[in-house]
Amino acid sequence: MNPKWKLCGEGKQQSPIDISDKVVHFPQLGQLERDYKPARAVLKNSGHIIEMKWKGNAGQLNLNGTNYKLIQCHWHTPSEHTLNGTKFDLELHVVHQNSVGERAAIGIWYKIGDSDPLLSELLEKLKSLGDEDIDVGEINPGIIKFGSRYYRYDGSLTTPPCTEGVVWTIMKKVRTVSTEQLSALKGAIRHIHESLGLLKKANYGIWGKPWGSLAMTMKYSVEKLEEVENSKSIGGDVLLSVEQI
Ligand SMILES: [Zn+2]
Repeated sequence: MNPKWKLCGEGKQQSPIDISDKVVHFPQLGQLERDYKPARAVLKNSGHIIEMKWKGNAGQLNLNGTNYKLIQCHWHTPSEHTLNGTKFDLELHVVHQNSVGERAAIGIWYKIGDSDPLLSELLEKLKSLGDEDIDVGEINPGIIKFGSRYYRYDGSLTTPPCTEGVVWTIMKKVRTVSTEQLSALKGAIRHIHESLGLLKKANYGIWGKPWGSLAMTMKYSVEKLEEVENSKSIGGDVLLSVEQI
């Protein structure tokens, strides 16, 4: 293995993780404050994922008083983070960086259903995406829906060099993506893998990265216990387990 990738195998706060029923209830986590604005963006392939990078100032996210500038977002299919061992069809990572280079990433899970507003804007471009970057014009990051409940932990980049110190926020609400959108993404990724001859290696086997253990830093943000207990969302089981801790 490349020595620069040492952290991927030996790091202590490696992402992704499985979000299991050992989650700690931590109501003090605040609302996510974001101040996004439309900016010009390009779709690109980064070898193993499809990424959209904002070229102009697309605004920022504020976490605990620190501003993180919005840099890019990218998609993983299937999801990287799992919930009680289960993968979702798709996971969007929205990546931000502060003035000293530290990163904050938002993870959003998707299952098959209604179309996703961001992917709707990009669909035709995705279908024609090859090895060359495509200018997609002005994209408003505000169309990415977050929600008010989330999981928080300190982790790492999920790909080499697996740098740690990334603040991860995984949204609790599972969003939906249409089958057409998902296959457009998969098709674009497959095209890239084929062109790089990486199709058979398109998994974590490339860098031997293990699943991170659930860190003690895992926190679960929820303000109204009742509301979550009554919800039929997938997070309900997590909360029941939380109460047993
Ligand atoms: Zn990612």
